[in-house]
Order: sequence, then C-alpha cells, then structure tokens
Amino acid sequence: MTLLPRFLCQQRWPRLIGKSYFDFMNSIYEIAVIGKGMIGAATAKYLAKANYDVLLIGPDEPAAGSDALVYASHYDAARIFRRVGTDDCWTQLNLQSAAAFPEIEQESGIIFHYPVSCLYVSEYPDDPCLRYAHQIAADISQPPRFIDSSDEIKKEYPKFVFPHGVKAMVEPAPSGYIRPLDLISAQIKIFKNNGGYFINDTVIKIDHNRKGYQIITQAGHTYLTSKVVVCSGSFTNFNRLINHSLVFNLESETVLLVETRAHCPKYLVYFGRPADPTTMEFI
Ligand SMILES: Cc1cc2nc3c(=O)[nH]c(=O)nc-3n(C[C@H](O)[C@H](O)[C@H](O)COP(=O)(O)OP(=O)(O)OC[C@H]3O[C@@H](n4cnc5c(N)ncnc54)[C@H](O)[C@@H]3O)c2cc1C
Repeated sequence: MTLLPRFLCQQRWPRLIGKSYFDFMNSIYEIAVIGKGMIGAATAKYLAKANYDVLLIGPDEPAAGSDALVYASHYDAARIFRRVGTDDCWTQLNLQSAAAFPEIEQESGIIFHYPVSCLYVSEYPDDPCLRYAHQIAADISQPPRFIDSSDEIKKEYPKFVFPHGVKAMVEPAPSGYIRPLDLISAQIKIFKNNGGYFINDTVIKIDHNRKGYQIITQAGHTYLTSKVVVCSGSFTNFNRLINHSLVFNLESETVLLVETRAHCPKYLVYFGRPADPTTMEFI
C-alpha cells in the first residue's frame, strides 16, 4: 500500500485534526471520487467544500496516439451551454448552472464561460425543444426569441445558410458556450483550496470489504476509502469500477480531430449530406 505524504500538504492540516493515527497512517479518505470530468470535478469540489475528506483520482488528457486505458467526453474547446432544456427539470438544472458560473470563475480566477448567446435551428416542424421553449418563454428572465423562416435567419446571421422550412430560436446570454477543460481546472483549483487531494492516475480495480473500499490504480498505488463516487462517464463499464455493467444507449456522433496551421481560414465550412459521410468536405 502506498502511504501518501499527506502531512506534506499544508492544506490538509485542518482535516487531520480529529483523525486517528490509524486513519492517518493508512491514508483512509472519507470519499473517493473516480474520474475528473465535468461531473467528477464538480462532485469532488462540492464534497470538499462540505468539509469531507476527499480524494479525486483521474488521468489527464492522454497525449495524441497514446495507449491510454480510458478517454473522456471533454477533450475539446467548447460545450454549448443553453438555458432552455427539453423539460422543466433540465431547464432548472441549466439555470442553476448558469447561476453558479460567475462564482466558480471568481473563486478560481479561471474564465471558462463565454455568454455569446446561442442560435438553435431545427428542421422538424414539431421539434420538442422549440415547442417546450414556446411554453416557458414567458416564465424565464432573458427569454428566447423565435425566428420562423430561413430568410429571417439569414438576415440576422448572414454567414449561415439553412434550407427552407427550418425554424429557430435565439437564446440571449448567459447562453453561449463553456470551455470544458477550463471549467474542470477551475473546479479542481477550488477543490484543492478546500483541502481536496488530487491524484493523476487511472483506477484499474475497486475491491469492497467490511472496512470500506480498496482502490487500485494503474501506477500501482492502493488507496482506502469509506465511500466511492464513480464519475467515469462512458468508461464506467471498464476496469471493474462497479460490479455490474451499466446499460448505455449508444448514440453516434461524428468527432473530427484536425490540426490547423496558423494560415488556416478562420471558419471551417461543411458541405455534404450528414446521411452520407463520404460527401463531407471542409474548406
Ligand atoms: C462530441 C461531443 C459533443 C458534446 N457537446 C456537448 C455540448 O455542446 N453541450 C453539452 O452540454 N454537452 C455536450 N456533450 C456531452 C458532455 O461533454 C458530457 O455530458 C460530459 O462531458 C460528461 O461529463 P462526465 O464527467 O460525466 O464524463 P467525461 O467528460 O467523459 O469524464 C469522465 C472522466 O472519467 C475518467 N475516467 C474514466 N475511467 C476512469 C478510471 N478507471 N479511473 C479514473 N478516471 C477514469 C475519464 O478520464 C474522464 O476524465 C458532448 C459530448 C461529446 C462526446
């Protein structure tokens, strides 16, 4: 078992008061959070702020071409952030997230939220999101604005061309986008400032016995903890993290990793029919 040099970490002193010598020597944490994506980083931060003794374990983004054990859903530059969801629950969660962004930025000193507004366009006559947005528009501050034809969209957004028959809505700020890697950095900074302990490693096994959980990592370390929160996203069924497989619905999403050079055009334009990927072309 690895004995962590926890006494070297100044921020841990308040947490060590009241711990038994046995706990200290065996590096027993109250809670381990597995996975430092957007969900795991937020979970760890809120637990540390609630004064739990928290260990967060997750690997950094693997280098290109590496044979990493796990990957993540957030290794790119932007995640669309919209306030209007598809039902009241999602909308409430979105509004609560928007309310938390300024505080996280201020506390961490890291900017991750870009409230540039958001244009939502749909070709479906009865798009559930647009239908729901019409229902709740009167109830939220800075409500969405609706545009009913592609010609109107073109007037406002001349760089975009949409087929006839589409409908759109514009959500004003704070809708826009977030930079997921910056949000995670901000959450982990606040987590550490609140006494949380972070390990850059991948969990390969979790054993449960009557004393709690024993977590074994790729680097060969073992950590003991009373509780585990698994936040490993779509890789949860890998590495024996939980003792039954989760049922996932697979949804196809085309992800393109391109390296651009300084002289590349500012805008990438897509031609082709989504149903036939062979027609894809970018300039
Ligand atoms: C291409 C794409 C576009 C998207 N666009 C949007 C968008 O515009 N707006 C939006 O809101 N959402 C979007 N999403 C969804 C959003 O990115 C995910 O919902 C979000 O990233 C999920 O966060 P997570 O923390 O659950 O999972 P992840 O981001 O996948 O994080 C899981 C973490 O767990 C770690 N992990 C896994 N296994 C282990 C292990 N054994 N030990 C330790 N750590 C482990 C991984 O390394 C990773 O860091 C998009 C997703 C994709 C793929």
